[in-house]
Amino acid sequence: MALRFASKNGRAHLVVGDDSRLVDLAEVSDGKFSPDPIDTFRRWNEVRDFAATVTTGGAPCAQADLDAPSPWPLQVFGIGLNYRSHAEESGMAIPTEPLTFTKFSSSIAGPDADIPIPTPTCDWEAELVVVIADGGRDIPRERAWDAVAGIAVGQDISDRALQFVTQPPQFNLGKSRRNFSPFGPWLVDARDVANRDAMRLSCTLNGEEVQSTVTDDLIFSVGDIVSYLSGIVQLLPGDVIFTGTPAGVGGSRKPPVFLKPGDVLETTLGGIGTTVNRCVAG
Ligand code: ZN
Repeated sequence: MALRFASKNGRAHLVVGDDSRLVDLAEVSDGKFSPDPIDTFRRWNEVRDFAATVTTGGAPCAQADLDAPSPWPLQVFGIGLNYRSHAEESGMAIPTEPLTFTKFSSSIAGPDADIPIPTPTCDWEAELVVVIADGGRDIPRERAWDAVAGIAVGQDISDRALQFVTQPPQFNLGKSRRNFSPFGPWLVDARDVANRDAMRLSCTLNGEEVQSTVTDDLIFSVGDIVSYLSGIVQLLPGDVIFTGTPAGVGGSRKPPVFLKPGDVLETTLGGIGTTVNRCVAG
């Protein structure tokens, strides 16, 4: 079975068995591994080998109690307009290089975190999320997946008014409000995902499907993004990349639809998992 990795109460855990039980990594390894999730990503290949020996035990996993798999990344990247369908609905040109912004790390939240809605212009963006293993610089495209620890699903929640309040616009703050970067529920080891470049990604709002795609429709693939970013910045263990959203966001609808308290977003990446986020008063 594929290695699955989760964080809870700030500690690294393995997720084992069909019933997804949680095993504390530092405890089960007698201290060979640190409880710090970031250390896990730095030693991902060793963790993978060790995890293959842990097949039973652990406590039942309540998904709502989990942190984001990488709960305090040093760098969080978002890629804008990375599906043709979304670039078109936004009325913007298709980028010739990955349109990159940051989501500040204080916006990271657990897979089932509530999302405070402080303004009337907050929008959803279902995304494939990857977490970097030991990282590095100048990673070639053909080795890019080796630099990735695992795959998760998440939401790049975006305050559209804040995102475009200045000219030229900058996206960083509008995508970094409290709990605007929920992801999880766990990481699945990228090496174990056979269709990692063509996964079904979808999202429902109050039970109605609003986004659906296959990730082979990405303009810049995970390999392209990792290679591109690492040619400019050093990728660090535990760094998080939100790879872009397909068509179907609320702000592009006529009339626009934005998130309001009481709304529930369910976001699914086939074979990985589902996150469930309730919107609450901000
Ligand atoms: Zn996005």
